[in-house]
Amino acid sequence: MKVSPTKAHGSRHLQEHELSPEDSSCRICGEKSRTMVATLQHDPRVALLRCPTCRVDSAARMPTEETLASYYQDYFAEDTSVEQDDHVTFHIAERLATHILKGVDIRVGTTRFRILDFGGGDGSVSAAIARQVIGAGVQRAYVAVVDVHDQLVTMDDDRIVVEKIADLERLAGDAFDLVIASAVLEHIPDPRATIETLFACVRPGGFLYARTPTITPLMQLCSRFGIQLDFTFPGHVHDMGQRFWERLLPTLGMVGSFQIVRSKPSIVATTFQRRFWATAAAYLLKLPWYLLGRCYGLVGGWEVLYVRCRHSDP
Ligand SMILES: [Zn+2]
Repeated sequence: MKVSPTKAHGSRHLQEHELSPEDSSCRICGEKSRTMVATLQHDPRVALLRCPTCRVDSAARMPTEETLASYYQDYFAEDTSVEQDDHVTFHIAERLATHILKGVDIRVGTTRFRILDFGGGDGSVSAAIARQVIGAGVQRAYVAVVDVHDQLVTMDDDRIVVEKIADLERLAGDAFDLVIASAVLEHIPDPRATIETLFACVRPGGFLYARTPTITPLMQLCSRFGIQLDFTFPGHVHDMGQRFWERLLPTLGMVGSFQIVRSKPSIVATTFQRRFWATAAAYLLKLPWYLLGRCYGLVGGWEVLYVRCRHSDP
């Protein structure tokens, strides 16, 4: 029996020529000694390896660039998971925006709130954040959406500018009040440079919000009952949970530059109206963590909010 945790990215069985050679070390921290925690596919075999140092779980063999380009081309062509109802889309974006802004000081020192939304799709969520920031009294807002997806939300408020930027590197060293990487880093075979660039784009006093799936513990539990929970490889190539995010600052040598504002099971992004059982299961799985803490890993997803210390270099 095979169960997929998301409709958005199905798995694809890759052939030998679609895979890169096996990695000898962790792509985040370079650790060479890693432990196998699951098998993502057989023949050719791709293992999921856990790094004992930075605690990321990664595919031992990454898809080639050509494989990923082909995979996402098919994904965008076939994707039916996007909520087509504008009313529903609006409310989901508003709910996510309100959630991301919890703990964010929106008056971090400017009259113009600047948001970088990495992997932000059409920018609906960051545009909703901009609307809420304006509603709270900030004069103007600017949103840079970095995404391969062409579509961009339209704005009818001239106090808000939303722009699509093709390449994150163009923004390197820019100073944003809020940087968002929501459900995107798990797709990137070599995420370290991207993560470092995202941190570098946060101004002193600004914030970085990240959300990723963490389903390895669920996969391991399900396999004991003969259920194969789909990791959605090669869409997802990493699993980043509580231990990864809470060790990331020392991993990157950034202790003293950033602090964790909050670190907890991720928001349930689906709705009861559209996906009742998936939504109910997500809430039920996350609940025990609030009693048991970090020894309980069956949360499905993790999110973290960092703040850049004001004395750190811009
Ligand atoms: Zn590592």
